[in-house]
Amino acid sequence: MKIVRYNHKNKETYGILYPQTLLNLPALAQNLKTNLPSTIDEFIATNETTQKTTRSLLSKAQEADLTNASVPLNEVQLLAPIASPPKILCLGWNYIDHAAETKIQVPEEPVVFMKPHTAIIGTNEKIIKRPFVKELDYEGELAIVIGKKAKDVPASEAEKYIFGYTILNDVSARDFQFKDKQWTRGKGFDTFAPTGPCITTRDELSDPGNLGIKTWVNGELRQNANTHDMVFNIPKIIYHLSRVMTLEPCDVIATGTPSGVGMAMKPQMWLKNGDKVKIEIEGIGTLENKVEEL
Ligand code: MG
Repeated sequence: MKIVRYNHKNKETYGILYPQTLLNLPALAQNLKTNLPSTIDEFIATNETTQKTTRSLLSKAQEADLTNASVPLNEVQLLAPIASPPKILCLGWNYIDHAAETKIQVPEEPVVFMKPHTAIIGTNEKIIKRPFVKELDYEGELAIVIGKKAKDVPASEAEKYIFGYTILNDVSARDFQFKDKQWTRGKGFDTFAPTGPCITTRDELSDPGNLGIKTWVNGELRQNANTHDMVFNIPKIIYHLSRVMTLEPCDVIATGTPSGVGMAMKPQMWLKNGDKVKIEIEGIGTLENKVEEL
């Protein structure tokens, strides 16, 4: 299932994304006299039961029930799947070719940093470039969404704690990132964590460690890689992070970017007002955001 949060007629809800329509899950449940949580966050946190309920609803729903609970995709505004994740964790230099293009040795242990939840925006929302930021860059990344509290999880068990996968653009102000010894400022601006368009549940991606990932700027292909090139794969990431801190439902973990960032181009190419960044990951969809200088 591709789960989305969206606005329809000024009302926020969540549901399943299909090519042309959205199925409002709380509405379908209500029509069939069943209960599903009213928010996507709660749906994720209780996913072991709610996913079963959803599958049973889908199997018993008649055509009319589905039609009544559906809205055309062009009538809604898709929102970032999770508005305010408890944590947004990100890995640095987790692709060999990206470490190489930035002249960094592949790390022996994951390099980890965090972004604030105020950085979250959804697809089609604007990335705001402040005029004092001169070196604005994109990083297309696969992001893990945690579905269950996780502490000291061995890599072999990691999958059970994952709700699904989304796309995150780890937008970075390189001038601020490298002025500091850590990256909170450079990667923590408002709007620097575009996320979405949906969360693909883990049962639907047979191998998240083998997905094509591409980023375009104004239609020009800049990043073209596969998630199998990660230094630390998804189970190892969960292992390393959950040794340090408890992972909670709705935590988002961005797994690092492949090569092809603007910083590594010759000459360097920074994002400017009006630029369009589009990231596509196989099995998830596309995340598109325009830059606005403000
Ligand atoms: Mg990154």
